[in-house]
Amino acid sequence: MERPPEFFCDAMLGGLARWLRAAGYPARFDVHIADGELVRRCLEEGYVLLSSDSGLLERYALAEGLVEHVFVPLGLRPVQQLAHVMGELDLPLRPARCMDCGEELQEVCLRQVRHRVPPGVQRRMEDFFRCAGCGKVYWHGTHWERIRRQLQRAAPGGGDGPG
Ligand SMILES: [Zn+2]
Repeated sequence: MERPPEFFCDAMLGGLARWLRAAGYPARFDVHIADGELVRRCLEEGYVLLSSDSGLLERYALAEGLVEHVFVPLGLRPVQQLAHVMGELDLPLRPARCMDCGEELQEVCLRQVRHRVPPGVQRRMEDFFRCAGCGKVYWHGTHWERIRRQLQRAAPGGGDGPG
C-alpha cells in the first residue's frame, strides 16, 4: 500500500494542520518557520507543502515541480481548506491522528487512562484512545461525532460513506 502523504502547512494554515491530522494525515505546522526553511524541509524530507501564499510559491519556483505542493485559496474556513486539499490529491479519510501533534492514536482501556477522563464520560463511553506522541486522551463522544461528520463531508465524493 502506498504511504500516505505527509504535509507541512505554512504559518497561516495552523487550523488546516489540525483538520488534516483528524482526517488521518501527518501534518506539521510551525508559526515561526521562515519561508526558505519551510521549502527546504519539504524538499529534503518529502513533505507536501500547503500554502496560501502565492508569492512564496513563485519565489521558490515550486511550479517547476521540485516540491510537491497545493495552493490553498484564501478566504476558506479550515474545514473547507481540508476539503480543497483532499479533493486536489484525491485523499480518502484515514484513521484519525492526534489533532495536537499528529502522532497515531492507540486504542486503550479506560483503566489505563482513568485519571485523564472526567467521571461522566467514563460512565457513558466505551472506546478510548491515547496519542502515542503527546499522551492526549480521546474518546468517541458527541464532539468527535461532529468532527467526523464534517470530515466525511470534506472527503472526495463526501458525505455518504460509512462511519
Ligand atoms: Zn498528540
